[in-house]
Amino acid sequence: MVIAVDGPAASGKGTLAKRLAAHYRLPALDTGLLYRMVARAMLDAGHDIHDPQAAEATVASFEEADFPEDRLRGREIGEAASVVAAMPAVRKGLIERQRRFAAQPQGAVLDGRDIGTVICPQAPAKLFVTATPEVRAARRHKELAGRGETATFEGILADIRRRDARDSGRSDAPLKAAEDAVILDTSALTVEEAVAAAIAIVDDRLSG
Ligand code: C5P
Repeated sequence: MVIAVDGPAASGKGTLAKRLAAHYRLPALDTGLLYRMVARAMLDAGHDIHDPQAAEATVASFEEADFPEDRLRGREIGEAASVVAAMPAVRKGLIERQRRFAAQPQGAVLDGRDIGTVICPQAPAKLFVTATPEVRAARRHKELAGRGETATFEGILADIRRRDARDSGRSDAPLKAAEDAVILDTSALTVEEAVAAAIAIVDDRLSG
């Protein structure tokens, strides 16, 4: 069983994907980390993040093991990841490893922006997780503060709006709900309420 979880930055999709994976005992892949690795590798090598040729060469050669997660989670890496993620050669270079992960015999949970639309269009259960930009900025603000990063709420809200615009506006695999995805708005939900709602949606899809 493949569960596709898509949605914008800080919508809660990552948390929900991990909780769904634990509930259904499935392996989970946070596909945003792959784009973050490409961005990290380019910055480490001193490349211009807007250079499509350097990005294509990077995606062909990077090793996942080279990047501990704490080097991928910072605020500027999310922004850089969304720049490289708009490049068709980068998206193409990452498709196979995502589909291979999804093809494991027991199934998998993948979260990202285009799992239900491009990577696993046949997934039986698809969620599109969303929340207002203000709620998402408040969550990200709290998360960054917890990791000692100083950023204002207004600055984070501006980041989120910019990233939404870039992710939704790109021509290749833009952020959007698949036609058969169920939309889950987590703005007014606690984590536990959102998890319960997500499980109910997946159970309903599986029984149907
Ligand atoms: O989800 P996360 O914030 O870690 O993703 C970082 C960036 O990677 C996103 O802003 C988006 O541009 C890109 N991404 C994508 N497709 C995915 C996952 C992430 O384009 N499946």
